Amino acid sequence: MRLSERARDLPESGIRKFFELAEARDDVISLGVGEPDFSAPWAARTAAIDSLERGRTSYTANRGMLELREAIADHHRRYDQVYDPESEIVVTTGASEAVDLAFRALVDPGDTVAIHEPAYISYGPGVDLAGGERLPVRTRAEDDFVLTPEVLSEAGAEDADLLVLCYPNNPTGATMDADELADVAAFCREHDIRVIADEIYAALTYGSDHDSIATQPGMRERTVVINGFSKAYAMTGLRLGYAMGPAEAIDAMNRIHQYTMLSAPTTAQYAAIEALRSCDDEVTEMVKEYDRRRNYVHSRFREMGLDCFEPKGAFYAFPQPGGDDEQFAEDLLEEQGVAVVPGSVFGEGGAGHLRVSYATSMRELKAATDRIEAFLADRD
Ligand code: PLP
Repeated sequence: MRLSERARDLPESGIRKFFELAEARDDVISLGVGEPDFSAPWAARTAAIDSLERGRTSYTANRGMLELREAIADHHRRYDQVYDPESEIVVTTGASEAVDLAFRALVDPGDTVAIHEPAYISYGPGVDLAGGERLPVRTRAEDDFVLTPEVLSEAGAEDADLLVLCYPNNPTGATMDADELADVAAFCREHDIRVIADEIYAALTYGSDHDSIATQPGMRERTVVINGFSKAYAMTGLRLGYAMGPAEAIDAMNRIHQYTMLSAPTTAQYAAIEALRSCDDEVTEMVKEYDRRRNYVHSRFREMGLDCFEPKGAFYAFPQPGGDDEQFAEDLLEEQGVAVVPGSVFGEGGAGHLRVSYATSMRELKAATDRIEAFLADRD
């Protein structure tokens, strides 16, 4: 069958390709997946079960249940983000749908969208599908992968129409503090650039709280913030996310959502209301456990002599063995049965690095890092 040009040109996800290689073997320890090894908190699961028992299996309002939007609005006050649940929030099928809606609502054909790299793999294809032009902006390991006005200028982002910002970052684990965000915000105001801020890892920071660019002066009106339940609440399979922003942007996103999705999964919305209402302690426990693993993995890499930036958020480490990262990852899988993701999958700025997810049990992390150590020793 003839396919559309856009579909034909869309490459397969580099991460998926690697998983298929890993799945072909049964002795593999996977540090490749970007998802929590925990289940959703029990209270959230109970709320989902209860909603099913009561027969709550209909569509909800297009924007999501008002009760959920109110709970989301309350939750975000902790980040100084204030949004009207009636007009400034739309609940989506995962943050993935929110990212797609934001591109479709904000990008005209030919618009330039600056994406800092390395970054999450969906942004580039999302821009392509919306007819925009990608402008890669390489963040540097020596800047701790923080986005700066200097690297934006070097990439020619003064002319960009839109900037995608993803902190805490997948795949580097970098975060940006208020001062660093203030510099980027000034650049965006000066050059009239709108922002899509994917903050899905906001709850997973270590040592300091999350800061949002949307709270910088003059930024709320030019920023759509994306978040969701997959990472903080270990609810990846329930597929629930949301976007918050100026009413006109959320309204446009909701109009697209009306025709493509109708409403986000109802059962998941019940789970999410309960998650926001009563599961802060579980999230704190999970963050504590990720932090323990983060320290372990980071110090093991350092002991092995692997260059590794200290991750400050999300649940990824991004060591730099150098050389051809794809070959390194393939050989590591082949020789030691450890699956990681080559950094170049996340854009050129990721070349020479590996993404290592520590959302894996401590036992597996110990075994995997032992194997990586043996692999490096064999290569010496
Ligand atoms: N944004 C980032 C930065 C991610 O890492 C991911 C998943 O890995 C998503 C969005 C997608 O999240 P969801 O499961 O809510 O669609």
